[in-house]
Amino acid sequence: MRILLVEDEQNVAAFIKKGLEEEAFTVDVATDGPEGLLMATEGDFDLLILDVMLPGMDGIALCRALRAKGVARPILMLTAVDSVERKVEGLEGGADDYLVKPFAFSELVARIRVLLRRRADLTSELSLDDLRVDLLARRVYRGGKEIALTQKEFSMLAYFLRNKGRVLSRTQIIENVWGYDFSPGTNIVDVHVKSLREKMDAGFARKLIHTVRGVGYIMKSGDDA
Ligand code: CA
Repeated sequence: MRILLVEDEQNVAAFIKKGLEEEAFTVDVATDGPEGLLMATEGDFDLLILDVMLPGMDGIALCRALRAKGVARPILMLTAVDSVERKVEGLEGGADDYLVKPFAFSELVARIRVLLRRRADLTSELSLDDLRVDLLARRVYRGGKEIALTQKEFSMLAYFLRNKGRVLSRTQIIENVWGYDFSPGTNIVDVHVKSLREKMDAGFARKLIHTVRGVGYIMKSGDDA
């Protein structure tokens, strides 16, 4: 799950990013309104968190602009201003939910999960052949046997499964699993695919992750490999 956080206060942004990454989300940060607008329009995010007080364009204007551009992703607004007026303004601007700073981190995570679950195209379970992934419990089973994965391996597997049958480039994988600020040109994707294969494909006749030479990887049933 990939989240865009638009927040200009560096310490707040770093705190939220770190906490959400511990919950296995991938988080990209934009530090002003115009940057947020650009990233939210061009990036493939599952949810957007917008601070209300932002330089360049405030969070409410940003939310309106995104809805006007047809961005339908769930939007959660954050603000230090506990005023009913701003809240109403934010919700009228197209936000799905609202959280007043300072908030308990567990509440932020709970609200995010509710918003993500509301989306019709999101299920709590993904599967392919005898592989089954429970997204809420973050558990992976193959042939009925549980497989222990690291957070990044889990994020990568969920991304592969959501896009099964589609060739994914290394750049797409990095953007979705590590975020924009991760420097490309490393072999991090290959290293993680290797460890994922060792845990998930080794010992099974049908391989599910396939290399597409010169491009990247594809997840599909072993039958048509
Ligand atoms: Ca702010």
